[in-house]
Amino acid sequence: MALILITHNMGVVSDTTERVAVMYAGQIMEQRPTQSLFTSPQHPYTAALLAARPEASDGGRLATIPGVVPGVYDRPRGCLFNPRCVYATPLTDKVRPDLRPWMDGLIRCHYPLGDPTRHERIAADGGAADGAPILKRETVS
Ligand code: SF4
Repeated sequence: MALILITHNMGVVSDTTERVAVMYAGQIMEQRPTQSLFTSPQHPYTAALLAARPEASDGGRLATIPGVVPGVYDRPRGCLFNPRCVYATPLTDKVRPDLRPWMDGLIRCHYPLGDPTRHERIAADGGAADGAPILKRETVS
């Protein structure tokens, strides 16, 4: 028997599932076995979600992902996460990545976090994110 659980509660996901599909703006961004996704997220959105959990907080304000999810009529032409991603480049602004095999699952990103060539490729594509934090901590009012 299979059960599909749809939730924003990452604690419930980690306790009850074997595989996870992380969705953003209606697209699967990363799909992998639960344990490996939690220990080694490959998509910047997945990593930002995990970094924004209360248990990942340093005791101060909770981290957030700046910006908002695009609506049906204001979708970016490239990667849907591009306007909110610290690793965005001119390429990700223009070319929407396909969902493709990566490690033990699937990913939709030009520069997966575990790709050892990603920093050189980000720089070559006009980005400036070498060493950038996955999440900008900002004040929540
Ligand atoms: S394709 Fe680029 S903008 Fe989109 S999530 Fe990956 S790094 Fe970020």
